[in-house]
Amino acid sequence: MSSLVSLAMTIDASPATTEHQLDVLNPATEAVIGHAPDAGQPELDQAVASAQRAFPAWKATSHDERRRLLDQFAEKMVEHADELAKLFTLEHGRPLAMSKEEVLGAAYWIRGIGQLEIPVQVVEETGTRRVEVHRDPLGVVCALVPWNFPILLAAWKISHALITGNTMVLKPSPFTPLTTLRLGELSQGILPPGVLNIISGGDHLGPLMTSHPGFAKISFTGSTATGRRIMESAAKDLKRITLELGGNDAAIVLPDVDIDEVAMKLFMGAFFNSGQVCVACKRLYIHDSIYDSLRDKLHQLAQTLPIGDGMQPDVLFGPIQNQPQYRRVQQLREEALAAGLTLLEGAAVPETGYFMPLTLVDNPPDDSRVVTEEAFGPILPLLRFSDLDEVIERANSTEYGLAGAVWSKDIELAVSVAQRLDTGTVWINQNLESSPSVPLGGHKQSGIGVENGVAGLMEFTQPKSIFIPKSS
Ligand code: NAD
Repeated sequence: MSSLVSLAMTIDASPATTEHQLDVLNPATEAVIGHAPDAGQPELDQAVASAQRAFPAWKATSHDERRRLLDQFAEKMVEHADELAKLFTLEHGRPLAMSKEEVLGAAYWIRGIGQLEIPVQVVEETGTRRVEVHRDPLGVVCALVPWNFPILLAAWKISHALITGNTMVLKPSPFTPLTTLRLGELSQGILPPGVLNIISGGDHLGPLMTSHPGFAKISFTGSTATGRRIMESAAKDLKRITLELGGNDAAIVLPDVDIDEVAMKLFMGAFFNSGQVCVACKRLYIHDSIYDSLRDKLHQLAQTLPIGDGMQPDVLFGPIQNQPQYRRVQQLREEALAAGLTLLEGAAVPETGYFMPLTLVDNPPDDSRVVTEEAFGPILPLLRFSDLDEVIERANSTEYGLAGAVWSKDIELAVSVAQRLDTGTVWINQNLESSPSVPLGGHKQSGIGVENGVAGLMEFTQPKSIFIPKSS
């Protein structure tokens, strides 16, 4: 009997499959571990039609009832957390304990977003009239999810869209479809038919979705290059869009930090998930007076922290998730070496699988590709600075503006630096924090709109102003 995983899509709360299937690989072994349906126009049309049929009743369902059903769905995810985490590690490569954190985090998020509600706003109240602004759902949402946090980011999109009364067709990345398809199966019997449809497919499916006239909105997380294509496609019928895109986040380490205290936190802020985090530190600016000591400490961590197959106990870092991404990061490394830059390599990695040593680049020029581009992998440039105004200018000199961080014992000074960074989020003495109640979004080419918080919910609704006369 084959031990390969084969899962169906969820259309109209029922399993749906296709004749052709996509192979799904384990990036730690490069072996095929399962198959996912390869949907095309007919399956997409069925999913959109189902979501359209479900929309009027879901829109009319009370917020409390929608929240109750979403909470049930979250509970089901928690019940199946171990099973989902194993499947996640197999298709994604991330160490098992961290995969379980993502599954539990996704359930936490669905509940957390359910706690938020957009209040009716009274914008005018006179003797003769009252004007209220209500928020209406948009209709059917097209959700496109990347491979780096497939379950958490799917949960963000599902919770925002459904709690505000929209219905959805969601597509995971072809590199990580399995855990998401399993989520679809778990939603059957909890969410009414058509409210959440999950379909999978190859590279052709995304563009078919963004140009489908049945969608009112596109909620996209992925690269800036794809974001531009989505915006172009959405322009044809003026679909609403939220774009959560790439980043090249700077962290600035001021001279007063305690190196032993911050080194591990800085390291994880850059290398968690093998650097495949949109808001990871991708440029680490270190004050000249502590540069050498902190660089050596970070190099020591790279040489000692365990990297390997996420199914093995005690592993902290897995492989790069897929072959095209592996090749991109490999090319950046080769270019850096060819340019004569100094690469400080971490521990040796397994020969099979898309593994790459955790690597620091010692003070490369600001215009080298490893500094100007989002690597999205385990390679981090360390950059010296001596003047605060100058380093803020260097941190801001990018087309991206997702997040940033400032490290100092002087919190007042750190807040003043935070205010001068052109990014949607800034952390002080911490990394990668987020919350269902805190808006997350990018400045400049890191995105349009936000997810999370009431501001995130607003993006799935449109204002409706109601003029109510008062009897004279
Ligand atoms: P990607 O842009 O290649 O793909 C993202 C999703 O869009 C996938 O489901 C993919 O199949 C689909 N897609 C690809 N081309 C499409 C097209 N032309 N039309 C419609 N859909 C299409 O991104 P990725 O490589 O999966 O993810 C990595 C990128 O995502 C990084 O740049 C990272 O910074 C970014 N990211 C951003 C955030 C954020 O919140 N800002 C979060 C996670 C990842």
